[in-house]
Amino acid sequence: MINKLLIANRGEIACRVIKTANALGIKTVAVYSDADTHARHVKMADEAVYLGPSPSKESYLRGELIIEKAKQLGVDAIHPGYGFLSENAGFAKQCADNDIIFVGPPASAIEAMGSKSAAKHIMEQAGVPLVPGYHGDDQNEVVLKAAADEMGYPVLLKAAAGGGGKGMRQVWSEKEFSQALSAAKRESMASFGDDHMLVEKYLTRPRHVEIQVFCDTHGNGVYLFERDCSVQRRHQKIIEEAPAPNMSQDVREKMGEAAILAAQAINYVGAGTVEFLLDEDGSFYFMEMNTRLQVEHPVTEMITGEDLVQWQLTIAEGKPLPKQQTELTLKGHAFEARIYAEDPNNEFLPSTGTLHLLKPPVESDVVRVDTGVEQGDDVSVFYDPMVAKLVVWGETREVALKRLLHALGDYHIEGVSTNIAFLKRVASNAAFAKAELTTTFVEKHHDALFAPVEQSEQFTHLTLPAMALLTLAYRQRIKNAAHSNRSNPLSVWRNTGAWRANSHHCETLSLTVDDTSHDVTVKHVETAGNMTWQVTIDGRCYNVCGEIAVSDRGVQVLNAVIDGYKTVYSYAHNDGQFTLFGNETHATFNVVAPSLGEDNSADHDANFNAPMNGTIVALLVEPGQPVEKGQPILIMEAMKMEHSIIAPQSGTVESFFYQAGELVDGGATLLEFSATPNDLDSDGINSRNSGEE
Ligand code: ADP
Repeated sequence: MINKLLIANRGEIACRVIKTANALGIKTVAVYSDADTHARHVKMADEAVYLGPSPSKESYLRGELIIEKAKQLGVDAIHPGYGFLSENAGFAKQCADNDIIFVGPPASAIEAMGSKSAAKHIMEQAGVPLVPGYHGDDQNEVVLKAAADEMGYPVLLKAAAGGGGKGMRQVWSEKEFSQALSAAKRESMASFGDDHMLVEKYLTRPRHVEIQVFCDTHGNGVYLFERDCSVQRRHQKIIEEAPAPNMSQDVREKMGEAAILAAQAINYVGAGTVEFLLDEDGSFYFMEMNTRLQVEHPVTEMITGEDLVQWQLTIAEGKPLPKQQTELTLKGHAFEARIYAEDPNNEFLPSTGTLHLLKPPVESDVVRVDTGVEQGDDVSVFYDPMVAKLVVWGETREVALKRLLHALGDYHIEGVSTNIAFLKRVASNAAFAKAELTTTFVEKHHDALFAPVEQSEQFTHLTLPAMALLTLAYRQRIKNAAHSNRSNPLSVWRNTGAWRANSHHCETLSLTVDDTSHDVTVKHVETAGNMTWQVTIDGRCYNVCGEIAVSDRGVQVLNAVIDGYKTVYSYAHNDGQFTLFGNETHATFNVVAPSLGEDNSADHDANFNAPMNGTIVALLVEPGQPVEKGQPILIMEAMKMEHSIIAPQSGTVESFFYQAGELVDGGATLLEFSATPNDLDSDGINSRNSGEE
């Protein structure tokens, strides 16, 4: 029985495992490094133990320390997640030696699959189809080249100890062989301390299709169908899906059975993935077996309705498989897109920084977000920069794909570069929609996937007016906050709705987007109860109105109405820059200070409107009397609360339009005010310092 589980991992997978453990009533222990002191997985667990400094070697890879902590805390089992210690046979053995259940296969199975060449020998003997190739011990260059010449070019050189595409080289002709071999060996030695090589026939248009298997300690094995992970960049998966499109039932069954054969050949226990290359003619070849839960396991969960972590824990307790093969069914289609903090236009370089805005799409039965971070967290240099896995399900591939695109449009992140726009391009690519998938997809469609962004009609007619609106609404909020800080908490300056004060009747803003400046002329329009402006951009006029607010999920939003079209954006304001996100929009811009020159002379008369229906309580100054900025000038009462009206700047109250005791309607102008020249309130917006947040 597992009563207490330690998760020897971090990030989304630690959170994922904790979720199932919680559902099963199993107590959880998280582990953390310095960088993860406040991480989501630590907050989610019942208990958490500190391992050490941020580098993985000094924390998450310290197997002995983890076992020591597990013993101290009375832990029954350790779930290793993926990466870190998950495929470390020594760690699995140490767990067993200390009477702690390792939620994974026995050490011997991990060892058997640890070397690609040894694994291929085992698979060959078990009758699992292999890519034609040489995986012998004789590493003499003459022998390796003879093998390549015999199978015919192109061939693929692979490091036996390899992983993550390292130590791998394509060789297209006999002439290139020697040089490619030296390069692959050097890379392999540098990465794995070993330069043992395999030579394989290089398939030019293969798909990467993998089978999810589970085996229990009673000798039973089942497969939970396949995943297609063909869309990769430099051998790293980008979007995975299940089932594999256009997979015949016959190939599915054969591949599933071959995967069980592979697992049973090494007395496998637990969750494992057998990776195959599927050729155009339907033949498939064993590539490798991953002896852990895969990153992309959620797509299998979506199409089978099974919780794979629950299966892992059941099997780890020594119980039989939860279901037989015939009880497993496949329903609908699922995609997983890996959301990374990286810059696709700069060779996918990881991006680090603070997630100032993190607004994932709303989760439901068909949209799932597996993540280990929260808004305000850092993406650090220490770990994999994956922010989340976005998983969607649909009755058909077409429906699932639409949901994926919609959910990607709804994923808003600011503070780090992300691959979201790139994922949208992949998902909206015509060849992807037609499921023309091979491992060379990204290479083949490179130009379309990396084309420079062109400004759309929508950008001109919706995004630019929305930017102007955000600027105006944000400025208003700052003013309100500044005034309410200074005075009575019940001041009307706090009201972000109907109340307008010190408005500029006409001004020009300059919005800079991607080094291009757009002049925007803004005119405030009086409409009862609403902040409405007329903005003119490139000679075209738009009526914009709206407000900024904080959504119930803590995200800052702009509720916008642009020429009657209603939409909601999320936004971030950071280092003097605004970033605006809509379903199709992601734009960052600066605002240059409005000139406060002659054009704005009309501004010297500010408007003072009643925020709502109420009664004038007192006039605090005489008409004609000079007042200082911040000085209360009128008190009104509405809804049993008093509201003060404060001078927004030094000036003179020319006249009051109501007397004490009179009733006023919401929106009515209460007084006439003239500002002292040269003492206009700056709007606090300029390209560098829009200040207060
Ligand atoms: P690693 O362990 O380094 O990730 P794999 O053996 O799993 O290496 O291969 C990674 C990727 O390389 C596969 O998903 C596939 O895209 C490609 N690949 C591997 N072997 C071949 C082959 N023989 N022909 C064509 N592509 C291959």
